[in-house]
Amino acid sequence: GDYHIVLAENRRMFNELQELKGNIRVYCRIRPFLPGHGEKHTTVEYIGEHGELAVVNPSKQGKDRRRNFKFNKVFGPDSTQAEVYSDTQPLIRSVLDGYSVCIFAYGQTGSGKTYTMTGPNGASEEDWGVNYRALNDLFSISQNRRDSLIYEIQVQMVEIYNEQVRDLLLSDGSQKKLGIISTVQPNGLAVPDASMHPVTSTSDVLELIDVGLKNRAVGATAMNERSSRSHSVVSIHVRGKDLHSGAALHGNLHLVDLAGSERVDRSEATGDRLREAQHINKSLSALGDVIFALAQKNSHVPYRNSKLTQLLQSSLGGQAKTLMFVQLNPDVSSYSETISTLKFAERVSGVELGAARSSK
Ligand code: ADP
Repeated sequence: GDYHIVLAENRRMFNELQELKGNIRVYCRIRPFLPGHGEKHTTVEYIGEHGELAVVNPSKQGKDRRRNFKFNKVFGPDSTQAEVYSDTQPLIRSVLDGYSVCIFAYGQTGSGKTYTMTGPNGASEEDWGVNYRALNDLFSISQNRRDSLIYEIQVQMVEIYNEQVRDLLLSDGSQKKLGIISTVQPNGLAVPDASMHPVTSTSDVLELIDVGLKNRAVGATAMNERSSRSHSVVSIHVRGKDLHSGAALHGNLHLVDLAGSERVDRSEATGDRLREAQHINKSLSALGDVIFALAQKNSHVPYRNSKLTQLLQSSLGGQAKTLMFVQLNPDVSSYSETISTLKFAERVSGVELGAARSSK
């Protein structure tokens, strides 16, 4: 008898540990040098097979020169979109089993966030980012299950700019501000007034995301690269019905291209720039606080501190699964942004920060 109790207890602890480990995944991706950008000296000294990363500050000598980090995975500059996606795919599949999944791209402007999430402008299939590949998978898996389950897949896409939420999928490009429901909804729908678009094929999705990107760009010409100062959120809502039992399930997938994380020089920024910078700082640190609280299993999770975390409330924490792509520009000129990005990543990954790990 006792023996079994001990076994059960061990199993419970093991499961808890697994869950803790599995809650927040952090994948680091380093973009390649781009032709014609004058970049040539890399800060990335070492990439290990198990998520190890070492960056160096070339202008320093001695023991402070090198810093070591460890994440769930590190993708080097030569990694392909397909490789990156293959490690993301299990999360996507779980959406069809009724899970909520959030995938973020975090990093300074120009570090490859949009590349990872969407792909380059006018991408061919090979260059597709996570968005298109995820939806493609959702379609093909739901097709495979059609003898036992019927799925409905719908898409919303919004932008959060200066703490205001805007629908990116209105074909008239109208700018109506949207409200967020601040309590957790069973169906995970946090922005009920954003337009909902049923999708059944990849071409539906390509068309929709194209509208969204164009609407995002409209703001950009008016506000000067606004897209790097706003968050865009593609929300995929999946409803499944079991044909035999009649049981229903809801799954959600949020794909979030975050605003650029670069610090704005306070002494130079004024007016709109300063206001944008303050909003971005606030929402990125609110996001960090929420993920950190979840990773630490804190009883209070501060969702209310930003529109972004309110919007994602029912998809962060609880049974939800979170993945953050931490994007890096390898050039030495980005060294200090790279370090602050990696520190943010280290904090949200729930790994203890400590002298033993920080440098050797
Ligand atoms: P961000 O969204 O972080 O501002 P982008 O995704 O727009 O950055 O990337 C900046 C530039 O670098 C773009 O021209 C993009 O096509 C290119 N780029 C980013 N990541 C890669 C990559 N892994 N391979 C090739 N080009 C990339």
